[in-house]
Amino acid sequence: MNAPIRNYDIAELRRQDVAHHLPAQADHRLIAEMGGSRIITRAEGCVIHDGDGNAILDGMAGLWCVNVGYGRQELAQAAYDQMLELPYYNTFFKTASPPPIELATKVAGLMGGHLSHVFFNSSGSEANDTIFRLVRHYWKLKGQPSRKIFIGRWNGYHGSTVAGVSLGGMKAMHAQGDLPIPGIEHVMQPYLFGDAFGEDPARFAARAAQAIEDRILQVGPENVAAFIGEPVQGAGGVIIPPDGYWPAVEAICRKYGILLICDEVICGFGRLGQWFGHQHYGVKPDLIAMAKGLSSGYLPISAVGVADHIVAELREKGGDFVHGYTYSGHPTCAAVAIRNLEIMEREKLVERTREDTGPYLAKAFADRLAGHPLVGEARSLGLLGAVEIVAEKGTNRRFGGEEGKAGPVVRDLCIKNGLMVRGIRDTIVCCPPLIISHAQIDELVDILKRSLDEAMPILK
Ligand code: PLP
Repeated sequence: MNAPIRNYDIAELRRQDVAHHLPAQADHRLIAEMGGSRIITRAEGCVIHDGDGNAILDGMAGLWCVNVGYGRQELAQAAYDQMLELPYYNTFFKTASPPPIELATKVAGLMGGHLSHVFFNSSGSEANDTIFRLVRHYWKLKGQPSRKIFIGRWNGYHGSTVAGVSLGGMKAMHAQGDLPIPGIEHVMQPYLFGDAFGEDPARFAARAAQAIEDRILQVGPENVAAFIGEPVQGAGGVIIPPDGYWPAVEAICRKYGILLICDEVICGFGRLGQWFGHQHYGVKPDLIAMAKGLSSGYLPISAVGVADHIVAELREKGGDFVHGYTYSGHPTCAAVAIRNLEIMEREKLVERTREDTGPYLAKAFADRLAGHPLVGEARSLGLLGAVEIVAEKGTNRRFGGEEGKAGPVVRDLCIKNGLMVRGIRDTIVCCPPLIISHAQIDELVDILKRSLDEAMPILK
């Protein structure tokens, strides 16, 4: 049974949007000038519908999260059943409820091996805040309290809270709120196309990893707590590191006894064709952050995966870890996440991404986009893709001499043509639901190509 289609007064909603609502990550003056946001009213499968009657292929899975697609009755039922039985209880002060325990067990099984425990939160940002506090607490317990410094990467994204923004390397976000907080260092990102065009990939991988070691030596290994990175940078522009980068990063962390943190908020839950991105790269982080695909965005829930040796330290010496949120281990969110993971397993969405739809997308990019005059590179891994727009084929030169002119033009044309994608500077990125079909991948690529064609006379 589908939900009844409700008739909204869209004009009135847009008026109220301007009058009373401050949308997230937005230029509020621009939204006021537009007369309000685009209002998405319903969705099913891979398609969202806006209040103006447009059906749009959701090439972004919402905000990189709706892995099982929209309209899953099973997830609504799981929430309904749990809400009637026990809508809410907390995990403070020696209590818990069944769903978070069952979910922790399930997630531990998917992480495999040494990542045996899970701490719940509501958002990816909160997961990284938990990691920040847990890591510093751990090093104190270990008797090495000087190990406080986190090393992240320029253009990395770890969320919007104070610790999240600080760990991340988005300069525009740092500029608001006098961030980063002290004790956080940033090093170069492994962005071959943008930052080292034409360099040998293996050499570049080694150079980008070496930047981490150099920084460790500069600040003193005895002061470094952890390195944090997304297996593939998502919000930075789907930056797929060259082969060899992650194993080299892991080796450096081990050499200096530094914790390795993978932020799996986007890469987790099948996006790269494995349950977690670090499994694709064959590395073993000490902590991982996960969110989004954990519940496919149906309800807010995130988690931190924690390695055995950290748990052992907490148990042996810890006392109270005085950290947690009202909604840590929220039973209804956890119940929905469990059912979401069951759907992913039943429909083999991870295997499908690795063996079928991911390669299909890569081939479509190579065959039908890579040769386009505006495309400098079309890359993908699993169901995460990026198209670099350039002013001159065969180079990484951007329109107007600096990044950011072409991306919004192509993105807006894509949306007008019925495809939701994001423009990150001059990189168009896509991250469709993992249920996307071959026909829908063809449609996604067709619309991208048509939008690039239409952008040519505007940009040239
Ligand atoms: N980490 C990564 C890698 C992300 O992509 C995001 C969000 O996009 C976050 C953390 C923050 O998650 P949230 O927006 O749920 O706080």
